Amino acid sequence: MSPRIHRQASPPVMRGRVGYRNAEPYLRRDFAYRCAYCCVHEQQMGGPQAFCIDHFKPRSRGGSVNDYKNLYWVCIPCNMIKHDKWPTREQRRRGYRFADPCSEEDGGVHFVESDEGSLQPLTPCGEYHVSMLRLNRPWLQKLRRERSYKHLRLNEAHQLREELGQAVEARPADATTEMKHRLLSFLRQEIDALQGELAVAIPLIQPRTS
Ligand SMILES: [Zn+2]
Repeated sequence: MSPRIHRQASPPVMRGRVGYRNAEPYLRRDFAYRCAYCCVHEQQMGGPQAFCIDHFKPRSRGGSVNDYKNLYWVCIPCNMIKHDKWPTREQRRRGYRFADPCSEEDGGVHFVESDEGSLQPLTPCGEYHVSMLRLNRPWLQKLRRERSYKHLRLNEAHQLREELGQAVEARPADATTEMKHRLLSFLRQEIDALQGELAVAIPLIQPRTS
């Protein structure tokens, strides 16, 4: 059981009303260039300008302004949706709160992904987290479905490449050899492209097995 995000950086002390903005380069690395909440990669949103710094515990609810541990790298939509939401004392007592990807396992414990690409809560925390952050907005579900489809295509391409490679080895020189080599080269490019796209896709959230 380990949190999804490990903070490595120790930025210099930040002061003042907007001092926390100096944490940006440290946060981007520590959060692996992804939104802390929806896991979208900067590249999927056109770059870091579509991201900003979120105060996990909102400033209006007593959250620290410049404490690095209260700063999260998030996409602007998640930041706007979360705004200053924070559970009441009564909600917290019943387990309704945001899952904290920096201090606990969130996906797989508090929510899992369905085959249709929606997140299904498993706990009150998951219910609060998924609904308050609107993690089932259509665009995110579409990205998750596309990711799953690319995984299928990648597996298919790997299998075809293997079978074709064996066919070429078995009969190194016949009338179809040149075409097989062209197909192999095509499959290699397809695999490289899919692997590149999957490297920045939203990771699949599966139930924790152990
Ligand atoms: Zn987000």
